Amino acid sequence: MKTIGLIGGMSWESTVTYYSIINSRINAELGKNHSAQCIVYSFDFQNIEELQYAGKWAELEVELIKAAKALKAAGADFLVICTNTVHKVADNIEKEVGLPLLHIADVVGEAVQTDGRQRIGLLGTIFTMEEDFYVRRLESKFGLDVLVPEKNDRQVINNIIFSELVKGIVKERSKNEYLRIMDILKNQEAEGIVLGCTEIGLLIKEYDLPLYDSAVLHANKAATMSLIP
Ligand code: GLU
Repeated sequence: MKTIGLIGGMSWESTVTYYSIINSRINAELGKNHSAQCIVYSFDFQNIEELQYAGKWAELEVELIKAAKALKAAGADFLVICTNTVHKVADNIEKEVGLPLLHIADVVGEAVQTDGRQRIGLLGTIFTMEEDFYVRRLESKFGLDVLVPEKNDRQVINNIIFSELVKGIVKERSKNEYLRIMDILKNQEAEGIVLGCTEIGLLIKEYDLPLYDSAVLHANKAATMSLIP
């Protein structure tokens, strides 16, 4: 089994999801008391959030490279960044560190493509919904047609992530806000909704369109990849 290097803590609430899925999945595959071989580098999320909002992506990249190198030195065979947003600098990390990196948007794009769907709604942080690194990758690599909510609703989605979900706070009112926004995407003929933030699955468990939960898909793929000799 390969050793998975998990870069987490963004937030720790969703790193728990990854850890749990990866271990359960390995046990389901290998039986007995098998569990995953993995190393977690967990950040203090406050620092990460401040760098993101200050637009200090170069500094953030340096921190991520440090973490990735520490994981490599500790024996990781490949890297998994347990969040969507910092994938903005993922390509540079892979290059700098020299370990394969399982890109979260590729895992999501593949899942949507495999289901034969093309037009999808995307929910995530403002960075993920508004900047190029995620939407363009889904569109150019997987031929998807990505719909994002309008500006005010993007802010609503983002505020709930940063003020509630990263602390594990789940409110009925926030869930209803998400459902209202997802209904708008459905009316724009989205064929599925990408939960493109690793904490959204804490709030939204089901909907009347297929859901592509980035954390669940990514963690499962990481487990699968660790079993490939
Ligand atoms: N975990 C979230 C994501 O998947 C947001 C936290 C962050 O800004 O890193 O994008």
